[in-house]
Amino acid sequence: MHRHLVLIGTGGTIAATANAAQQLTDYTVTQGIAAMLAAVPGAHELADIHCEQLFNIDSRAMGSAQVLRLARRIEQHLKSGAVDGIVVTHGTDTLEETAFLLHLTLQCQVPVVLVGAMRPGSALSADGPLNLYNALLVACDPASQARGVLVAMNDTIVSARAALKLSTTQVQAFGVDGTGVLGSITDRVVRYWARPDVPANPLCSLKGLRRLPAVDLILDYQDAPLHPYQAAIAAGASGIVVAGMGNGSLSSAAERGCRLATRHGLVCIRASRVPRGAVTLKSSDHDTGLLAAGALNALQARTVLRLALAQHWGTEQIRETLQRL
Ligand code: ASP
Repeated sequence: MHRHLVLIGTGGTIAATANAAQQLTDYTVTQGIAAMLAAVPGAHELADIHCEQLFNIDSRAMGSAQVLRLARRIEQHLKSGAVDGIVVTHGTDTLEETAFLLHLTLQCQVPVVLVGAMRPGSALSADGPLNLYNALLVACDPASQARGVLVAMNDTIVSARAALKLSTTQVQAFGVDGTGVLGSITDRVVRYWARPDVPANPLCSLKGLRRLPAVDLILDYQDAPLHPYQAAIAAGASGIVVAGMGNGSLSSAAERGCRLATRHGLVCIRASRVPRGAVTLKSSDHDTGLLAAGALNALQARTVLRLALAQHWGTEQIRETLQRL
């Protein structure tokens, strides 16, 4: 059966070039999505591929306005019933944030696959063309269905629920911190060994969502100061996620800062700066009004809080949702 894919370009290193083949960093986004696809031998034998250039930016410039626009565009394609899969090229720096928001808000009847690259297209051993080919292969494969939003990088398929950038420059930058590797792509064969827990329903509707409220992420550490909390309140943030110590323990400045912020109507979450493990509930949370991030890392907790605040959820609904995800 001939398949129909949509390939959405948003930019990133996969769309970038540098001045010399040996130059692996310090590059600029120059390539359009159609040119990138044209440079991938055999892509058109996989499927009819319709290219769309939504943005062409470094992913550090992606904000909620862009991510929500991308999410709505993907949702339109999913609802049309006319596509067999969707591939999105994206910079790797914030790819996990975009992927997690898509994971929470889309009901993927067909595969949705995010892909990037660590080396610009002009580099010796550029990883973009093979990553893109493999992502198209994953999107075409019926075995990719019902696995939620996927990230395909460096021969590995990862769930958007668990995807993390783990290296600043290496080609195997993208992975997971624990569970979440779902399969692999080797020599044109896609293999799966795991199926993620995909939300039965989107966390919220994308309808009318154009931007998400400001939620500041504050790192906690020894001798941490109070002023980041005061600044968040003064800047009009709607919430704060603290990347706390250990199991979401807070320094006295963070505790005071959160108390102050809660009094000003901000919702505060205790997450952790530690890469592994959940942040558990504390009996004192009820008195302090703090929420625990549960199994989410600080960035993921921030995304959930922004979506929740955009829907005007109450604190108890947010608390319950954080424990469930
Ligand atoms: N700076 C790039 C970005 O757009 C990094 C990358 O794509 O690997 O996120």
